[in-house]
Amino acid sequence: MRTEDLEVNEEEPALNWFKGVWNLHISPKIKMFLWKLFQKAIPVGEILVERHITTDGRCKRCGTLESIDHLFLQCPFARKIWRAAPFVSTFENSGLIDLKSVWSNLCEKNCVPPTGLVSGQLAPWILWHIWCARNQLIFEGKTITEEEALTKAITAAKEWTSNQEQRPPPPRKIPPRPQTMTNCDVLNSDAAWRASNLTAGLGWMIKTQEGSSDFTLPTPLVGSALIAEGLALREGMTSCRDMRLRKMRCESDSAQLIKTINSGTFHPELYGIISDICNLSCFFDEISFSWISREKNKAADKLAKLCLVGEEAFMADT
Ligand SMILES: [Zn+2]
Repeated sequence: MRTEDLEVNEEEPALNWFKGVWNLHISPKIKMFLWKLFQKAIPVGEILVERHITTDGRCKRCGTLESIDHLFLQCPFARKIWRAAPFVSTFENSGLIDLKSVWSNLCEKNCVPPTGLVSGQLAPWILWHIWCARNQLIFEGKTITEEEALTKAITAAKEWTSNQEQRPPPPRKIPPRPQTMTNCDVLNSDAAWRASNLTAGLGWMIKTQEGSSDFTLPTPLVGSALIAEGLALREGMTSCRDMRLRKMRCESDSAQLIKTINSGTFHPELYGIISDICNLSCFFDEISFSWISREKNKAADKLAKLCLVGEEAFMADT
């Protein structure tokens, strides 16, 4: 696989998926919401029209086509909220700006000290409360003012943050591990897939300081090699979660899979699996996904192939 294959689709503004969503100190619910938002998987008017669910995709407040960028940034309602947000430096959201391009900037904005919030803690909650206000208007006919929506966002962000601070810190291994992503546990996953019988052998290997563990899982009715790769990674992450590992580097030789995860682009074949991977990633303090060559992934590849062959022999016997 050439390294050029790993580049993000040029048409979409790039989003630093980890900094911009997964590594934010926000609740899993809001993380999931952001994930869906950036996947264009939340039902705003424009998307409902594209999917032929409705013919009227206009914003209920101003009558403009309700795209994600409109609803969350460009609508006068949203503009007023962002302008009033207690950031140290104001957020200039005039013109046709788009959410993916400005998101990292919004997450880096510090709040004025009395709010007690640090950068990255308020912007996600503002998006969430713009979404809630929109739904309350459409489904309950209830109008929430910009001030109310902003107050709710600030209150929710503060409440969640202070609840987290009150929790006892998780038990630590002694000595604590160095805080670099190179010094973490490693998951290698791979899949072997047979088109003729739609069977996959999933294999994964988890390397920790204590040693290395191998896992396999035969899986029937898998539609493609790419899905099989996604399933192997998901099952591997599930094992890491069950082993209570906190810092992970996940490696796969499927460039397509890693590219889809890291770019946050929508992939119809992988959608459900990526959603699971996103949910699972909330269990780790830090997690990254890297592409490695097939050569470097051969131990997991061997596990996957043995698993597939074993399963086929078992099916032939029965
Ligand atoms: Zn509007």
